[in-house]
Amino acid sequence: MAEMKIRIYGDPVLREPAEDVTEFGSKLEDLAGQMVQAMIEADGIGLAAPQVGLSLRFLVVGLPTGEDATRRRVFAMANPEIIDEGDEMIIMEEGCLSIPGISEEVERPEKITIRFQNLKGETVEMEANDILARVVQHEMDHLDGVLFTDRISPLKKTMLRGRLKRLAQDGA
Ligand SMILES: [Zn+2]
Repeated sequence: MAEMKIRIYGDPVLREPAEDVTEFGSKLEDLAGQMVQAMIEADGIGLAAPQVGLSLRFLVVGLPTGEDATRRRVFAMANPEIIDEGDEMIIMEEGCLSIPGISEEVERPEKITIRFQNLKGETVEMEANDILARVVQHEMDHLDGVLFTDRISPLKKTMLRGRLKRLAQDGA
C-alpha cells in the first residue's frame, strides 16, 4: 500500500459513512501498523481509516503511557459499536488530524462500553473511560462521516466558519 496521507477537512471521504470490515488477518494487521505509524508521525492519539482515505469501519488509538512519547498503549478496532454509556457527561478539548490548527471543547459521555472485532476478527467487549473513551468516541464519529466540529455550539461553529472554509480550499 502506498504511503498514508492524512485527508484534510473538505475531502469528501471524511463525510462518507464507512463500510464494515470483512477481511481480517495479515492484511488488516498491515493496515493497522501503517495507520499507527501515520498517527504517531502526525503526533496524534487516534486515527480512523476514512482519515487516510479508506472508507472502512476501522480505527486505531495510541495513548502515550508515560513520559516517553514513543511508548503507546495501542488499540485497533474493527466495526466498533458503543453498547452502553454512562450517565455522566464531560467536556474535553478535542482536536483532529484532519482539522489541523483547530481545537474546541466537546461534551460526551465519560464512560462507554464498546464492542469491536480485533485484527483476527474476534469479538471483544471493553469498558473505557477518560481519554480512551474520548478518543474512541471521536474516532467512531469518523466512521459515520461526523467531525468534532459538528458537535460544538452554533456560536462556535459560526466563529470557525471562515477557518474551516479555508482548510477545505487549501488543505486537501
Ligand atoms: Zn478526528
